[in-house]
Amino acid sequence: MLQLEDVTAGYGSTPVLHGVSLSVPDAAVVSLVGANGAGKTTLARVISGLLPERGGRILFGGKSITPLSPGARLALGIAHVPEGRQVFAGLSVADNLRLGAFCRRDALSKAALASRIDEVIASFPDLRTRLSDPAGNLSGGQQQMLAIARALMSGPQLIVLDEPSLGLSPRFVADVFRLIGNLRRSGIAVLLSEQNARLSLAIADHGYVVERGRITLSGPGPELLRHEEIAERYLGIGHTGRSAPEDALAQRALTERLAALLALS
Ligand code: ATP
Repeated sequence: MLQLEDVTAGYGSTPVLHGVSLSVPDAAVVSLVGANGAGKTTLARVISGLLPERGGRILFGGKSITPLSPGARLALGIAHVPEGRQVFAGLSVADNLRLGAFCRRDALSKAALASRIDEVIASFPDLRTRLSDPAGNLSGGQQQMLAIARALMSGPQLIVLDEPSLGLSPRFVADVFRLIGNLRRSGIAVLLSEQNARLSLAIADHGYVVERGRITLSGPGPELLRHEEIAERYLGIGHTGRSAPEDALAQRALTERLAALLALS
């Protein structure tokens, strides 16, 4: 569905992505793993068109999307949920959802828009009773859910999710990952950039490790989870006998509980 071939990008005179190639098959979950500053957000921006690529090609459904604006890419089926949610705090939950379907405004009647909201909101029990509330009154976890629901309003084939579980309570982290599994089941592909490498690789059909703007390792998600280098660098597990720091152990225990809860591992 989505293919990046040797993509380069950067900010001003600073190159950030150095020839990234990856692919996201139809209805697959693909995870990007990497340290802060590795280039995952930059990659998400380049795919949604918020940042122009400087070289290489991006294909969606076999066709180059390089000349397309972010709006045209959204209309084509690529929705981007940016890091930090960025819901419109002063607008109601319902209006945030309506804005999500803005790119379909010519095709959706008022009644069709209302039924699309009903359809999308069915997967978000926390939002169902809050439709008239300002989005700014929602908790962080609920705002993240709203950001994903808003992206779904455009009827995407691919959702690029940038750090969806950042700063969320374990309950919402579990909800986010359960939702990602449901999106895949409903035929929507997900490109997931996540600080929680354990859960994101456990759920991924395929994973890519991003280091300093390059893909350094890739493979099926569960296989990468067992990779010694990944375990050491991103999961806090001392395979070579070094003891893991306490917070890494706590994080590991938490994510193991979540993975068990989600029956991912
Ligand atoms: P994080 O998880 O911290 O967001 P990341 O893997 O998503 O990390 P990016 O945000 O893509 O990484 O950052 C990659 C590099 O690009 C970093 O060196 C960062 O400082 C730089 N960078 C990011 N945004 C900008 C910007 N708007 N202007 C200049 N440099 C930027």
